[in-house]
Amino acid sequence: MLGSRIGPALEIGAEAPKVGHFPPQKSAPARAPIAMTKQTLAFQAEVQQILHLVTHSLYSNKEIFLRELVSNASDACDKLRFEALDHPDWLEGNPELEVRVSVDRAARTITIGDNGIGMSADEAVSHLGTIAKSGTREFMAALEGEKKKDANLIGQFGVGFYSGFIVADRITVESRRAGAAAEEGMRWSSDGSGQFEVEPITREQRGTDVILHLRADEDEFLAAWKLRSIISKYSDHLSLPVKMRKEEWDGEKNEYKPTDEWETVNKAAALWTRAKADITPEQYTEFYKQISYDTEPPLAHTHNRVEGRSEYTQLLYIPARAPFDLWNRDKRGGVKLYVKRVFIMDDAEALMPVYLRFVKGVIDSADLPLNVSRELLQESRDVKSIREGSTKRVLSMLENLADSEDSAERERYAKFWKDFGVVLKEGLGEDHANRERLAKLLRFASTHAEEGVSLADYVKRMKEGQEPIYYITADSLPAARHSPQLELFRKKGIEVLLLTDRVDEWMLSHLHEFEGHALQSVAKGAVDLGSLQDEAEKQQAEAAATAFKPVLERLKEALQERAKDVRVTTRLVDSPACLVMEEGDMSGHLARLLKQAGQAAPESKPILEVNAEHPLVKSLETSPRFDDLAQVLFDQALLAEGGQLEDPAAYVRRVNAMLVTA
Ligand code: ADP
Ligand code: MG
Repeated sequence: MLGSRIGPALEIGAEAPKVGHFPPQKSAPARAPIAMTKQTLAFQAEVQQILHLVTHSLYSNKEIFLRELVSNASDACDKLRFEALDHPDWLEGNPELEVRVSVDRAARTITIGDNGIGMSADEAVSHLGTIAKSGTREFMAALEGEKKKDANLIGQFGVGFYSGFIVADRITVESRRAGAAAEEGMRWSSDGSGQFEVEPITREQRGTDVILHLRADEDEFLAAWKLRSIISKYSDHLSLPVKMRKEEWDGEKNEYKPTDEWETVNKAAALWTRAKADITPEQYTEFYKQISYDTEPPLAHTHNRVEGRSEYTQLLYIPARAPFDLWNRDKRGGVKLYVKRVFIMDDAEALMPVYLRFVKGVIDSADLPLNVSRELLQESRDVKSIREGSTKRVLSMLENLADSEDSAERERYAKFWKDFGVVLKEGLGEDHANRERLAKLLRFASTHAEEGVSLADYVKRMKEGQEPIYYITADSLPAARHSPQLELFRKKGIEVLLLTDRVDEWMLSHLHEFEGHALQSVAKGAVDLGSLQDEAEKQQAEAAATAFKPVLERLKEALQERAKDVRVTTRLVDSPACLVMEEGDMSGHLARLLKQAGQAAPESKPILEVNAEHPLVKSLETSPRFDDLAQVLFDQALLAEGGQLEDPAAYVRRVNAMLVTA
């Protein structure tokens, strides 16, 4: 009986109003479900909003409704093919899965039919009346925002079914689940306003018919040629046939009329199984747009059949721009897994390392079992070798762009880096095997260039006798660029990399050297430029330090709570003082990042380095306000590196007092 198959959503009492709510109110009195009657239910509130937005925002790209409904039909066939592995009887003796699109000009309807898994009444209520996937709010924000008419969004957020209402003022869905009895069919129907109806029907064929009753001004979609062209535009790559009726010329009426014969309209060969030579760039791009819901063409793709220890086909794409949730490390990857052309799962995260989660595409394995689960994937040795192989391919794609002879390609890499560089940096910690290749792909800002400096560029420009690669980390580019710690380097023309991404500190804990050159922070340890500093300079500095010793002692005393040590430096040219960390201590920048993230950072005191040549420092010796000046020097050094004063009011008071005396 249908009633027993219908979930609580339909348990509405006999006297209850015909309009129910989904999900049902918990407090509603429990009644026996009513079988075999028509029920009217309200859409979930989010669905109503989506329906409104979809019909009012996406009208400029109406044709996508067919792509979405054909894609649902194809998904339904994929699901049946998969379920039939365990339940062969569900195929009901007819394993030829297909999608049929037909037009009834007199009734002004388009029907998208499939013989896939089908839907029971309770499934229809929940799949077509509520939104299961998260991200509805993002979807709506995106639709209302600048990308208003971006019709690809609809598929991205799993609300494709509702696009039917762009062209239809009523949608009827008739369906029966594979393996169920004919009497267990159901009809769902709605005009897309606030409610829908469900009723039991008898239906011999398994699968689903989605019937669109076209709006008055949508007659263009009654032309079969129009539908054919939309199908070949969007659905060529589907591996199952999408069929339409063959037409023949009717001389009397002067028009084509449909015959009883069905013919396949799409290519019906999964794109990745076709030979590269037979695939046009447009087809690669179209396929990418289908699987990624991106409107822009991809940056690059790679398509290979891999044979060897494990056998698989990969078609992988790098998007041209970052998706809105790129930063989310928990997001599953964008690679679909197929086994021998049978779709297994979306977002198979085990197929790509996390730092390549932006890669989209398909991997079709010849070795994995069809019933493989996500858990099994994590452990499979075949999957491990697929992941390694695919990672290498993606890195090669990036290297080809980055090292291309063609400056336009290098431009593309620069654009990629802007969007995805931060994520790629995660790879240095995550993927030790490819660390060297990843290091070559890194790009930085430096004291010598606005952006785009590779470590190789840096090494090429190193001064004669320079050993380490120098860098500074800071909260922002201006803070890095104007840091007092750079003064000596600037004077000597030594390049320093400016690192300001949040992941940089973490990356540096995994990247210690490049081509034999250690990476060295300019803000750690005593300044030692080795042979870059001449003897005379060194001697002069030592002499200054000796002469300055008594003042240093008093400074140490005054700042003993705040500074681990105070010493004279040659690092500074224009500034009076700066803070440095002892080698091995955590940088102030990293400590601040940890604090912001609510994590405990070890309290290590910095070292105050002073420029004995600076007038302010020189004035210390005779200053009547020695202690205040000492504190101010420290505070200013902290401010200059982007730190926060613990007692800003005290700083202001001290500076003002000194200004008045001056
Ligand atoms: P998505 O396809 O991303 O899940 P849709 O809005 O396109 O989102 O479809 C919603 C759900 O409705 C599908 O997930 C599926 O469960 C169900 N559905 C839609 N069309 C069909 C169909 N032809 N056969 C079986 N189920 C379908
Ligand atoms: Mg869909």
